[in-house]
Amino acid sequence: MEVINTPVSPYIQNAPIAYCAATLESIYVDPGDEIEKLMNVSSELNLKPQYIFITHGHIDHAGGATELARELDLEIIGPHLDDKFLLDALEIQGQMYGMKAKNFIPAKWLNHKDSISFGNQKLEILLCPGHTPGHIVAVNHEAKKVIGGDVLFNGSIGRTDLPQGNHQDLIDSIKSNMLTLDDDYDVYCGHGPNTTIGHERATNPFLVDA
Ligand SMILES: [Zn+2]
Ligand SMILES: [Zn+2]
Repeated sequence: MEVINTPVSPYIQNAPIAYCAATLESIYVDPGDEIEKLMNVSSELNLKPQYIFITHGHIDHAGGATELARELDLEIIGPHLDDKFLLDALEIQGQMYGMKAKNFIPAKWLNHKDSISFGNQKLEILLCPGHTPGHIVAVNHEAKKVIGGDVLFNGSIGRTDLPQGNHQDLIDSIKSNMLTLDDDYDVYCGHGPNTTIGHERATNPFLVDA
């Protein structure tokens, strides 16, 4: 599985496109905004988008999903049902933050330990509440890659001061779902540079006691 990160939205959110190098089947992850930019990246590589995958309901991650889904006739999968209150408020978030967005209900809510696939790639879904209650991450164990959204960042962790954020839940999610992975797993973060589990385990100041 290959992952290309394209920063979108005023929040410089990484909108990954993950694809199977063998089949060129792909998924759009967190298309928060600037969907034309994302569609261009996809068509330059001749990718075959299968669906849109959402890690959590914040506007910088989910704001462009409806428009992209409509444009390409794709289904939206995820996040977990506990983020419904955020998806129901995307239009309000948009008015607050000066972005255009539409509320949506995904074709499928995802649960802990569900699996999703595209091409020859299989990803395990892990529920990681804390930044938002219904935040999910997707782990490709064969490729040792994690699509991590706003849970764990290079040198930091997701904010917990937004509605229904919870610091202890976030630390618990990282401990039980991410620090249990091997050091050589790459993490594609929702903001900022990529990292690895090993680098965060050794240096992340928020995880020193974990
Ligand atoms: Zn977020
Ligand atoms: Zn974000």
